[in-house]
Amino acid sequence: MRGALKQIHQALRDVGVGCITYVPGYPITDLAQSLGAEIAVNEKVAFECALGASATGVRSMVVVKQLGMNVLADPLVISATHTTGAGIVVLAGDDLGPRGSQVEMDSRYYGPLTELPVLDPSAQDLYKAVTEAFRVSEELSIPAILRITSDVLEDSSTEPAAGQNIPPSLQQPPRRFDRSIWDLTARGRHQRYFARTLPALSEAAESSARMELRGDTGVIASGSVVPLAEAVCKETGSSLLVTLYSYPLPMRAIERFLRMHRHVLVAEGPAPFIESHLKDVCGRLTGHISYGSIRENDLKAALSLIHISDLRGSIEMETATGRPPRRSICQGCPFMPLYGVLSRIDVPIAGDAGCTILSLRMGAVDMVYGLGSAIGVASGFRDKGVAIIGDYALAHTGIQGLINAIWHRKNVLVGVIWNRVAAMTGFQEVFDLEPLLKALVPGMRIVEMPAPEHEIERILGEELSSPGVSLVIFKGTCTTSIRAPDSQGSTGEHDISGVNS
Ligand code: SF4
Repeated sequence: MRGALKQIHQALRDVGVGCITYVPGYPITDLAQSLGAEIAVNEKVAFECALGASATGVRSMVVVKQLGMNVLADPLVISATHTTGAGIVVLAGDDLGPRGSQVEMDSRYYGPLTELPVLDPSAQDLYKAVTEAFRVSEELSIPAILRITSDVLEDSSTEPAAGQNIPPSLQQPPRRFDRSIWDLTARGRHQRYFARTLPALSEAAESSARMELRGDTGVIASGSVVPLAEAVCKETGSSLLVTLYSYPLPMRAIERFLRMHRHVLVAEGPAPFIESHLKDVCGRLTGHISYGSIRENDLKAALSLIHISDLRGSIEMETATGRPPRRSICQGCPFMPLYGVLSRIDVPIAGDAGCTILSLRMGAVDMVYGLGSAIGVASGFRDKGVAIIGDYALAHTGIQGLINAIWHRKNVLVGVIWNRVAAMTGFQEVFDLEPLLKALVPGMRIVEMPAPEHEIERILGEELSSPGVSLVIFKGTCTTSIRAPDSQGSTGEHDISGVNS
């Protein structure tokens, strides 16, 4: 096991975490499975289970990829003023690059949005960050967000934490949810947040900031960039400020650091989150650091040009043709005849995250707006079109789109890629929805795959020419059982790897 993962394991053991839930996806699948986490149908349910555990005195963690944060955002926003019981941490895995996701997203922005603390550790600070996240969560009765990037999780140079102490408050029995919070109104609970919670968080952020003072040029670094910034700052005689908290930021330490230096560079990723809060600094917004991973030479070049205030220039955009796909449809995939037919029929086709996304390049689907989205999107088409969705995506959030389509008598043909596994994230078993689907759409048809293309074309043609909701289940068994490990850039269910990532 990699050193970074060992640090997380040890911290969770020391804290006494009793409930871990997850939804697979790059880059967190390996971590979650190594922890023995319980898979959930989607991230909102995973987080709700963790909230229930916390309320009854069980320290809990939910492990999700970046886009999963959007799915659990509703109860997450509410929890800041609602309050919780035992420590509860949301581990958000951000995919830098992105290597295995449809978009690059920076989960640190959930800090100001949810008013919850966000910690952004480097690989060597993982033990400290996990225990600190649980400490602040339990002492302040709020969830804490632990943002971990793909390169931190894949760090193999980090040593397992040894001989570290957990905070005294975590050596006490876990707390339970305190109903006295309902003595306050919603406004009163928000006032309580600003009067007590936010000041305590700000103090925690200040006391965890680390400064190394050298010359009149300084670097502010967080997350995976920290080890690189440490080495470059030593070599170039620059000062360094490391922020463990991204929200709230340690503004007193930052302002002092800014006053002490003539030029300051902010090294972070993937977005200019810290930089956008500050004035008169250099970073991605000023063109000193370009978008993408930060390497040693990028930092050195930025520091050598730091006396120039604006380096923004034109960006060369990566194209799908300019880079070979990371993954394509498996040889002998039983669903290939369906993709062949879809690429010829002349109606709009909404695809979904999962294996269908791999068929984008052959023109089988036209658009993919995220996991579970296909049926909702196709329900909005002007005329009857097609939604192609995997059985995992259907269980995750697609089923609500189907219910809505039936409710409003939409004209939509739903084709389900039915292989009973979440193939893109490691072949996790999928809950059997067949009895529920039969009850929802009694005229549901089942096609055993691979079926001849002319047969598929006939069935799709019949269903497209009849009004209302049509449901066709395409049942097949994957030809591969090889799991693409996280370390090789496997894809999450929101992923588009192999197409244009
Ligand atoms: S994993 Fe299964 S469904 Fe996906 S492309 Fe391969 S064979 Fe087809």
